[in-house]
Amino acid sequence: MNHDQASTPTSSKSAPTVAELAAVDRLLVVCDFDGTLAWHSSDRLNVPVDENAIEALRRLALMPGTDVVILSGRMMAELSEICPLDPPVRKVGSHGAEPEGSENLLTDGQQAALDAITEQLEALCEGNPCFVEFKPFQRGLHYRPVAGTPMAEQMRQAALNIDPHGAHITDGRMIVEFSVSDATKGTWIAAERERLNPDATVFLGDDTTDERGFAVLSENDLGVKVGEGETKARARVADIPGVAAWLTELADARAARA
Ligand SMILES: [Mg+2]
Repeated sequence: MNHDQASTPTSSKSAPTVAELAAVDRLLVVCDFDGTLAWHSSDRLNVPVDENAIEALRRLALMPGTDVVILSGRMMAELSEICPLDPPVRKVGSHGAEPEGSENLLTDGQQAALDAITEQLEALCEGNPCFVEFKPFQRGLHYRPVAGTPMAEQMRQAALNIDPHGAHITDGRMIVEFSVSDATKGTWIAAERERLNPDATVFLGDDTTDERGFAVLSENDLGVKVGEGETKARARVADIPGVAAWLTELADARAARA
């Protein structure tokens, strides 16, 4: 394998194997939800999940020295409804802006920015099936309803061209999202690693927003990209069943270690 030093300037160490990850004392497993554990569906609140992946995460969360967190772009109110995992698995919503049990207090400036963004995005959706998603710290224009038509790219461009009023913009998969929070999956994972100080962190995800998570991982950690596309992750699985197989292998190896 050709190791590109330029893309990994901090280390030439190869990515840890599943066996190496399973053997550490303290392991943090962070997993995206949509597109990683669950398939996309036209009904956002009724998405099919991969039961094998869910079961592997359940098993891991019950093992000593193992923390399991679902880190989703969805707001917590939706995530808690659709993700069939219970404590000790933890859930974090809105790309890290909504840890479990947090209160969402917007400043007047953040609220004003969100209102202005909402007005512009709703104008774009008039007369077509695209829609605006409301989250405590974000608004997102979903153009999945027109996927596969020329309108998808037109909606994406139009959304990218609105006045963001200082919000952070993410050009995601079938969504352009505006956030008035500074939290990203990267800032959340970095803070959680600081807090728990695990020997290794694993993060699995499929979308643009997950790249910010992969980017903060160190040489002992492993990012696992789901599907095709450019990525900073050092491992890749093809699809959601691939996630299930990978997590099951990790759970089996960690169970055998005790
Ligand atoms: Mg995803």
